[in-house]
Amino acid sequence: MGQWLNDSMKIVPISLPTPFYIGAVNVYLIKEDPITIIDTGPKTREAVEALRAGLRQNGLTTGDIRRIVLTHAHEDHCGLARSLRDEANNAEVFVHDWETGHRTGRLEHEDSLRLLMRAGVPEDELKTMRALYDEVRQYADSLEDDHCTALNDEDELEFETGALRVIHTPGHTPGSCSFLREADRTVIAGDCVLKRVTPNPVISPDPIDPSRRFRSLAEYLVSLARVRSFSPTLVYGGHGEPIHDYEELFNRYLRAINDRQANVLRLVPKGGATAWEISRLMFPDADDVHKFLAVSEAVAHLDQAHAENKIALEMTDGCETYRQVSD
Ligand SMILES: [Zn+2]
Ligand SMILES: [Zn+2]
Repeated sequence: MGQWLNDSMKIVPISLPTPFYIGAVNVYLIKEDPITIIDTGPKTREAVEALRAGLRQNGLTTGDIRRIVLTHAHEDHCGLARSLRDEANNAEVFVHDWETGHRTGRLEHEDSLRLLMRAGVPEDELKTMRALYDEVRQYADSLEDDHCTALNDEDELEFETGALRVIHTPGHTPGSCSFLREADRTVIAGDCVLKRVTPNPVISPDPIDPSRRFRSLAEYLVSLARVRSFSPTLVYGGHGEPIHDYEELFNRYLRAINDRQANVLRLVPKGGATAWEISRLMFPDADDVHKFLAVSEAVAHLDQAHAENKIALEMTDGCETYRQVSD
């Protein structure tokens, strides 16, 4: 029965090009009733064409899609959700509620701008980030609430011969979700787990209290451990090849995170510095969108160090300064 179940619920990876630095994105076709795709790719002609070709190879068209499930609402993953939904004659779109901020515009969101100002990002850099973000935004239609069905932790997405269990794995974004096929412990993990790069915890307002910052790194560590608790035999990431040895990757991630944490701690001066200043020391060569990712990374690590009382945090004129704890 188990074997039969594996054979029936086919997970087919389809790689789509993106205009982004990260390169191609993986969309996963669940080739079983109801026909489902996990993630959609960005809203570009090249991505739609590659998706159509991938579906065609499986004897399907976009019109056959019944469910569009999003691991998270970054443009490279959700960009085509609305147009595919319309093309598929109103397929249902699923996304976690905590992706609201992301799916309706990140930097336009007043809360996100406030977080960046609090992190010490100078006015002119904010303007540049905003302009870059406007460019990125063209690769996705926004998804308003009435277009989506909420994904919740432990929900089951039922298929004819089995189910995928929704695992809320916050960190990369607050509403990031993974999907577990219990029969053979396969996980589709979006950007929570990537073979070649440690995913960035992106600076986000807390979905429950947007005046606060989401504790992305702390949440991310919990999510990585949660995925580990399933002893996955195979993990499909949002980019790159599948991962056969999650344990090795998990340990590599932890080492990378600990090394970075130690590095960040060394960079915090006695006299104090903002997260922005520390991010420039961490990644002096970062440009364009990488400056945004760099400050996100700095904030995530500084928050974690502060939560563990390893550094002090002061708020002056709406801006946070981190300093070494004096003894
Ligand atoms: Zn992402
Ligand atoms: Zn991605």
